[in-house]
Amino acid sequence: MRKLIFATNNKHKLEEVRALLQGKIEVVSLSEVGLSGEIPETADTLQGNALQKAQWVWDRTHTDCFADDTGLEVDALNGAPGIYSARYAGEHCSFDDNINKLLDAMEGKCNRKADFRTVVCLIENGEPKYFEGRVDGCILTERYGKEGFGYDPIFMPERFAVSFAEMPLDVKNKISHRGRAIAKLTEYLISDK
Ligand code: IMP
Repeated sequence: MRKLIFATNNKHKLEEVRALLQGKIEVVSLSEVGLSGEIPETADTLQGNALQKAQWVWDRTHTDCFADDTGLEVDALNGAPGIYSARYAGEHCSFDDNINKLLDAMEGKCNRKADFRTVVCLIENGEPKYFEGRVDGCILTERYGKEGFGYDPIFMPERFAVSFAEMPLDVKNKISHRGRAIAKLTEYLISDK
């Protein structure tokens, strides 16, 4: 089976992506190739950050690899936190800190529409390619559920009556931003090129 290194230190993302690519692509973690340390993400777009993360791994391994970058974009906050989703409440903040800050910012807002957008960057033979996935939904007024990670307890996808954190992983993966981006990556990888 073909192997690709996934440029992430986020164990939740690794679990989600391994489940999505199971039986198709062997997903190799950074620790399995002896890489550690924080991967820089200082670009001003999801695409730029995804490239930066994948390039960091390519430069050290010269092995085909991919990275994802995700942003939660809230209508009433003009698209914030967007590319700052990981550090919305400050450098080295927790998922809980970010949720608290977002719930505060959304207090009293009637328009609670939001989306998650993921850009995956694949580096194959040194050349980058991009795959995007998006899910629309809304920001809840309090936390629901214990599954998932990040903003999952306060995000309810369209056409569902539960938050991402109330869904089993296989259900989230079918409809999520990351699931959709990885489905496009898979289609590309298994197509005749
Ligand atoms: P990253 O820069 O792609 O690692 O993601 C930025 C931040 O977005 C993460 O730290 C999480 O807080 C949040 N995030 C990314 N993916 C998800 C998801 O699938 N559910 C909830 N939050 C997410």
